[in-house]
Amino acid sequence: MSFKRFPGNWELKELFKKLISQDTISQAILLSGDSLSFKDGFAFEIAKALHCERGNGDSCGECRNCKLMEGIKDEDGNIIPSHPDFLKIVPEKDIIKIDIVREIAKFIRSRPMISRKKVVLIENMDRMNIEAQNAFLKILEEPHFYVHYILTTSRIDTILDTIISRVQKFYLKRVSKAEFFDFFKEFPEDILNHAFEKGAFPDSVSEEELEEEKLLSSIVSKILEIGDKRSLIELRDLFISLSRDSKGDFLRNVIFTVKRKIKEKISAPSSENLNLDDKFFEYYNKLESLETDTLLNINSNLLFTTLSDLLLNFHRNL
Ligand SMILES: [Zn+2]
Repeated sequence: MSFKRFPGNWELKELFKKLISQDTISQAILLSGDSLSFKDGFAFEIAKALHCERGNGDSCGECRNCKLMEGIKDEDGNIIPSHPDFLKIVPEKDIIKIDIVREIAKFIRSRPMISRKKVVLIENMDRMNIEAQNAFLKILEEPHFYVHYILTTSRIDTILDTIISRVQKFYLKRVSKAEFFDFFKEFPEDILNHAFEKGAFPDSVSEEELEEEKLLSSIVSKILEIGDKRSLIELRDLFISLSRDSKGDFLRNVIFTVKRKIKEKISAPSSENLNLDDKFFEYYNKLESLETDTLLNINSNLLFTTLSDLLLNFHRNL
């Protein structure tokens, strides 16, 4: 098992082999790409290669470190690493909260136990809430020479600029359909088709969706900035016109837009005067718990009402 485990981004794989074998890899990297870029697998292979005792830039699969990284497989065939110097973070219920960042802080405090390094891999960094991102930023600001951070994301625009500026960014290309089929050619075609469509769907955006996103962003901006009630009615009309199945997505898109606006405000040069007090975090937490509720099939009309209140109260909280 090594970088050859999945298709695509071959030049980047070669680059990483070189950086790892020469020990010139940056201590904090961010891999950005959609679900068909295999970024999470890529990130895990980097973590393995960093730990491998042979030190040739890719994992050998045979040394003690590689064996511990490959760990045990669960019922679904997922690898559960059991290396004491490796910490993998994945969102819980779609969110990474501050208690997880405290776990990271604890993990990095002591020197590696058997490897030369400690590696922290955070999947879907964009799911880390703002409070947790601020705490994580403090960790990044005080690096330990033995710790490496590997972050992945498909939505780089909700990560704080202060974090982005402290990591080295790599953009992973989506694997083409031809390469995908060629690489996994031992699988039946219908399974591959399904897998490819499923992987392609969440992140592929059509022209029409892009227009909708722009419209939504401009409506939401007016509500947030001046509490414009007419725009809120416009938003409600859009919501009502949707089928039941699309309402959850719509609510999540609105919440995503609000989070982006918050990020813009916090990252702006004038943000030093901003007072990120308890009131702000309370507001932000409400937004996030609402986001979770949209995934649980709770009455979407009720959720829209709650969201409307949050939108109208935005300028009072930030
Ligand atoms: Zn090895």
